This record gives sequence, structure tokens and C-alpha cells, in this order.
Amino acid sequence: MVAAATLTIDLGALRGNYRAVRAAAAPASAGAVLKADSYGLGAERIAPALYDEGCRDFFFAHLAEALIIRPILAPDARLFVMNGLQPGTERVCAEAGLIPMLNSLEQVANWSALGVAAPEPLPAVLQFDSGMSRLGMEPAEARRLASEPALLAGVKPLYAMSHLACADDPADPENGQQLAAMGEVRTLFPALPLCLANSGGVFLGPDFHGALVRPGIALYGGIPNPPAEKVISPVVRLDVPVIQTRTVPPGTRIGYGGDFVAPAEMRLAAIEAGYADGLPRHLGGTGAAFFEGVRLPMVGRVSMDSVVIDISGLPPGTLRLGSRVELIGPHQTLDQFAAAADTIAYEILTRLGRRYQRIYKD
Ligand SMILES: *Cc1c(COP(=O)(O)O)cnc(C)c1O
Repeated sequence: MVAAATLTIDLGALRGNYRAVRAAAAPASAGAVLKADSYGLGAERIAPALYDEGCRDFFFAHLAEALIIRPILAPDARLFVMNGLQPGTERVCAEAGLIPMLNSLEQVANWSALGVAAPEPLPAVLQFDSGMSRLGMEPAEARRLASEPALLAGVKPLYAMSHLACADDPADPENGQQLAAMGEVRTLFPALPLCLANSGGVFLGPDFHGALVRPGIALYGGIPNPPAEKVISPVVRLDVPVIQTRTVPPGTRIGYGGDFVAPAEMRLAAIEAGYADGLPRHLGGTGAAFFEGVRLPMVGRVSMDSVVIDISGLPPGTLRLGSRVELIGPHQTLDQFAAAADTIAYEILTRLGRRYQRIYKD
């Protein structure tokens, strides 16, 4: 074992978060979003842990992501491809038994053509745009699809799906507007159950739950909106070793560009994580590490492989070569770490580098 920075991923906490989300969404059932390698945490480890908890519906963004995970889950798991299908990939998707979101009439036509030739219609989710203007069919396309059943001849639609743009803010009127837009879609397709809520949507209340919810960030310990805070536990911990310490006199310039100038004598430590490990460059000057509850501000710019922290707040000799400081953990949550870099937990998780020693505990 090399004394590298360690990224500890608590699969027990992940399971607990899944149970908490499922309880909040009941009687709707709860799937899990595993896109971007489970938000950077390793879909090959996350998927079986959630399957063990009873999760059967797994959502990916790309076809390729779902293809990787399909063989490691039992046949009763359903794997969905949210970004839809590029022309020419339909056969691969169907042969692997994956379920695509159909996001346009073109995708409906391509999937239906394959389904008409297959022994049975092919399952799919119909995605409608309800106000985010990102993916899914628009109201006029929804009406056309409803009025021309032949368009869906080879398709077995499972859900009417949409995605919330503002679920992080329960007070945003856009949430209600999107719900109303989906109400109209459902009058066109009364037999189709609704699949709408991401993590934030789960905590907006039962109106948003539909039949199946699609949480991502809350499973991984991010707090999507204030109501989630009480029930979601941290999953990730990031500890980084000290690789050098020094004391500098007042006026010393620190880091690339010499942007930071020591205002007084300072004790400093270089720690072994930088922007190549997913620390945003914006953290220089705003971020911090923690040691036994003491905040140790980052000073100067974040380098590729290291960043300097001010350890003057600790008694001399406390930190030495090989000591470890906390970047994400009990003293600094994932969301606090993200906020210090003026970003969101999603971006921090998905950019965590590949050089950390990853420890999965359960
Ligand atoms: C990413 C994503 C989700 C999960 O969102 P969280 O906010 O992480 O819960 C759900 N649905 C769609 C379409 C997504 O793109």
C-alpha cells in the first residue's frame, strides 16, 4: 500500500441513503442514477450494492455506460439510457436488453422500426420536455405521437418521463409549471405512469413522485435541497497526506504567480492533491483543509499535484511528512467543499481524480 491520498466511499451510507430516498418517495418506487461512473464513485461497486437493497431500475446517460454495467447485474434489473439513442445504435441497445429514453420523433421512428421487425415491441421511455429545453419531445410532438398510434407500432412505452430544472429550490415556481406541463402530457397518454423526480424532486413532495423516481446525488451524499438534509448521510471522505512543511517570513510569495504574499510569519504545508485530482483551481484563497477540527486555509494557487495550506493555527510539529488532513469529511461536507470553490457537489464528485487510493467500506 502506497501512502497516497485516500478516497473512502461508504457503501453502507450509500445503502442508507437509498433506503431514505425510497421511504421519502413511497409508494413510488426508487431507481438510481449511475451516470458518469456513478458520479465518479465507481458504478461497478455502486450498482451491486444498490441491487442488494432492492433497487431494480438503473439510469445511465450514455449507451456505453449501460453496456458496461449490464453484465454485472441480474437479469431482472432494468437499465435505462437517458440521453437517447444515436442513429445506428438501436440494435446494440436492443440486443443488450437496455431501455432507451426516446427524446424525439426521430428516435421514436428508429426504435419503432426495429421493434416492428422484432418478435415483440421494444420497451422504451418517452421523454417530454416540460420546461428545461434540454432533452425530450415538445408539446406539439407529444400531441402528434398521441394522435398517430402507428408511430409507436414497434414500441412498448413504459413511462412518460421528464426532468426538473429547479428542484434544488422548492420555492421556485418552475417546479409547479413543469408538473402542470406533465399533467397535460399525461392526458395524452393516460396509461403511462410518470417518471419525473431527481433527488431534489423526491423532496418536493408526493405530487412530484409519479411511479418511479430517479435519484442520483442524494444517494452519493450530496444535499439536493434543504428538506433532504435531515435524512441524507455523507458517503465520501477525502484525506490527503502532507508532503512537506516549512516556515516562511513575512513577505514570502507562495505558489504559481506569487499571488499570495505572507502577511506575517507563516507555517505552511504542501499537501498531495491538486487540480489533476479534481481540486478546482478556484479553491486557492477560498478553500481549506481540516485537521482535528482546525481550519487550515489554502494559500496561493492550486497546482496540478499539490496545494499549500496555512498550518499556523496548529501547534508547531503537529503536522509532519505523512500526516493527513481532511478535505471532505466530518468537518467539511461535500457541499461545503463545493461551495468554497463556487461550484456544486456534482462537479466535485465527477471530477475526483484517478490517483486517489479508493477504499470501499460496507
Ligand atoms: C442526472 C439526472 C438525474 C439525477 O439527478 P440528481 O439531481 O443527481 O438526483 C435524474 N434524471 C435525469 C434526466 C438526469 O440527467
